[in-house]
Amino acid sequence: MTLSGAHYPVVVVGGGQAGLAASYCLRQRGIDHLVLEANRLGHEWRTHRWDSFCLVTPNWQCRLPGFPYRGPDPDGFMVRDEIVRYLEEYAASFGPPLIEGVRVSRLRRAATGVFELSTSHGRLTADQVVVATGPYHTPSVPRVAERLPADMVQLHSGDYRSPGQLPDGAVLVVGTGQSGCQIAEDLHLAGRPVHLAVGSAPRVARFYRGRDCVAWLDEMGHYRKGIDEFADADAVRMRVNHYVTGRDGGRDIDLRAFARDGMRLYGRLAVVAGAIMSFADDLRANLDGADAVAEGIKDAIDAHIAAHAIDAPREARYTPVWEPSADHPRSLDLRAAGITSVVWSTGFVRDHRWIEVPVFDGRGYPMHWRGATSCPGLYFLGLPWQRSWGSGRFEAVGRDAEFLAGHIDASRRLADVCGTLTGAPPTLSVALPVG
Ligand SMILES: Cc1cc2nc3c(=O)[nH]c(=O)nc-3n(C[C@H](O)[C@H](O)[C@H](O)COP(=O)(O)OP(=O)(O)OC[C@H]3O[C@@H](n4cnc5c(N)ncnc54)[C@H](O)[C@@H]3O)c2cc1C
Repeated sequence: MTLSGAHYPVVVVGGGQAGLAASYCLRQRGIDHLVLEANRLGHEWRTHRWDSFCLVTPNWQCRLPGFPYRGPDPDGFMVRDEIVRYLEEYAASFGPPLIEGVRVSRLRRAATGVFELSTSHGRLTADQVVVATGPYHTPSVPRVAERLPADMVQLHSGDYRSPGQLPDGAVLVVGTGQSGCQIAEDLHLAGRPVHLAVGSAPRVARFYRGRDCVAWLDEMGHYRKGIDEFADADAVRMRVNHYVTGRDGGRDIDLRAFARDGMRLYGRLAVVAGAIMSFADDLRANLDGADAVAEGIKDAIDAHIAAHAIDAPREARYTPVWEPSADHPRSLDLRAAGITSVVWSTGFVRDHRWIEVPVFDGRGYPMHWRGATSCPGLYFLGLPWQRSWGSGRFEAVGRDAEFLAGHIDASRRLADVCGTLTGAPPTLSVALPVG
């Protein structure tokens, strides 16, 4: 199969939930388009989630356009294979013009204004392009990893599958974002001795006063708050997610309880010298900080309940079940502790280098407003906090897709009127109905 010489009004790059949502919304508007996916539909969920993985967000938040979750457990949390099935069924519901196994290796904008896409199956052109390649591209592993003993098995959270994948012995998990905490729990539940380097990620309680905290926050309008409403929008976009789990019907992740039950906690990893690791003196502060965030969210829920005179059961507040002692260890001898593997749960970095269009800031983050960039016809979809909390999640990617489809449609109509998209007079460009 070759795509060489083909031209489409719109090309969507990426066949995850964002790319599919974009396709659905374009189809609804009768806009001819093509979706190119480097691997298989839903690739990230299929290949980069561990065996016991389940959603952290409740199923009712899976609101892909035209295909909201209608399963038997709206308050539950789909496991990995159910999420893949949900995406497959979504695609089957409308039949997107999706081609799998085609990687876009280069995106440029020609002098004529048309976009040129170099792909593994030839070069094609498009009037408009939606980049829906997800936010998590390259595993980020700190370079101190190079200093570990050569026989230490190391892997990134994106490649972790199950405890059985790791050699016998204790495991060091570095990082306590959502993945790190859940992987540490997975290993802990399997009876593996776990050492955990704790960072500053916040946490949220799973349930409070009779409901999932996500349900309260939804009712409180938290998820409708736009990024433009934050004075520190840039910082909000880069924030680490709160840790909590949907496992076994959902529960808190309480690192203090893990420590009480035998997991060894440390502060942030600072230095690696062969088999000796040193940690910052911030374990207490990091645990306290995470608890403070969780309790602050409960304060806000209490205020909401009071303000609306809601009949909700009272619930005792959290009391720490474990505290690090004053002389809590700040170093770890991997050999003495019997550690044979390290799981780096240290996040991902974006890689948009294949996009050769000058729409990025100094950090490589695409500058956009609600996904529309300063380059006419180039859009992003599925970025965390693109427009609101749920933009990089199931919750609001559909709303963003609908918005962009409207924008694309308007641009197309404007181009029809003006004869050329990119040559549109500025007065008409600013009059686009984008609100
Ligand atoms: C560990 C983890 C847990 C998460 N848990 C939740 C949760 O509980 N609830 C929730 O709502 N969200 C969750 N998310 C966030 C989000 O829903 C996922 O990251 C989701 O995969 C994002 O979907 P997407 O379509 O934007 O991107 P992706 O799923 O990353 O899809 C992008 C697609 O683009 C393809 N691609 C990339 N580059 C190219 C290219 N150059 N050419 C062609 N194709 C390309 C990839 O193969 C991939 O299939 C989680 C994310 C992670 C990492």
